Amino acid sequence: MRKTLYIIGLSAFVFSCTPQQNAKKSSYKPKSPVSQPKTAIKTQTPEKPKPQITNDHGVEFFTTNIADATKNDNTASYGSIVSAKPAGYKVVKTYFPAIAQNFRQRYLILHYTALPDEKSITVLSQQAVSAHYLVNNTGDNEIYQLVDENKRSYHAGVSSWRNDKNLNDTSIGIEIVNAGYTADATGKKLFVPFSDDQVKKVAALAKDIITRYQIPATNVLAHSDIAPTRKQDPGPFFPWKKLYDQYQIGMWYDEASKQSYYDLATSTDFTAKYNDPAFISSVQTQLQKFGYGLDLSGKWDDGTKKTIEAFQYHFRPQNYDGIMDAETWSILQALSLKYPVK
Ligand SMILES: [Zn+2]
Repeated sequence: MRKTLYIIGLSAFVFSCTPQQNAKKSSYKPKSPVSQPKTAIKTQTPEKPKPQITNDHGVEFFTTNIADATKNDNTASYGSIVSAKPAGYKVVKTYFPAIAQNFRQRYLILHYTALPDEKSITVLSQQAVSAHYLVNNTGDNEIYQLVDENKRSYHAGVSSWRNDKNLNDTSIGIEIVNAGYTADATGKKLFVPFSDDQVKKVAALAKDIITRYQIPATNVLAHSDIAPTRKQDPGPFFPWKKLYDQYQIGMWYDEASKQSYYDLATSTDFTAKYNDPAFISSVQTQLQKFGYGLDLSGKWDDGTKKTIEAFQYHFRPQNYDGIMDAETWSILQALSLKYPVK
């Protein structure tokens, strides 16, 4: 279990995101195979050098970016090539690699397992749920890969963020071994902190994934962000601010911006308007615009409270009571200003 699994991907590569804006379009038009010998077809391919393909133990890779960011907002594409092997025919990868392509991996979702180490391994490798990576809590230097990054793992479930749904299709999932929470007599959820060793491991792993796939800050999220009515993980002890400050991972608000929104909010009687349907609607609209999937009911319903709680786990972890107070409201507005929907 602890042996390094074979990873279909490049651990080191020459990365290039330079847009290939000057690439000449091919003038090649398909002709009859009889009148057009194969060598003639090859001479009509674009003059730009073809991306290099390397072969490592029978697996082929593009070693540099072959996508063009100006085409359909594509970002980058390199790494392993999975091909058909039709009987009696030859699939050729080097003639016409398309520049209109990008990575399927557009989100990074973080979880806790709510289980100890050994049980986490068993559940995530032998049952109906999984993740691409599992970060243990044993203090060693190993990170377990459970699923190839090119494949879907079953970690997100019913989920949404901004205009995207079913994020298993487009994400990499990292599970972190952590006990989760217990509820006290009042129902308040009591969570368990993460060790420094684990946070460092998660940060190094996340940084590597985000860099290789150019995952934007707005798409580095908690499971609770993408499924706020169902999930709490990785909870309020996960140090999102530390990851942002020390590793430039994910989103965080600018303090001055938050303060100006806070001054504005507290210059009026914030609690007086708390139950004003217009205010509730503006909160719901702002949460939805920022990314959370919730209904615009105009009421402090259960879904809205849980969504506010999820927001607080991530961005105001000192108090996660699910109430939209002036500070939470200020942080939400500061984040919306900094990370607008494009
Ligand atoms: Zn989860």
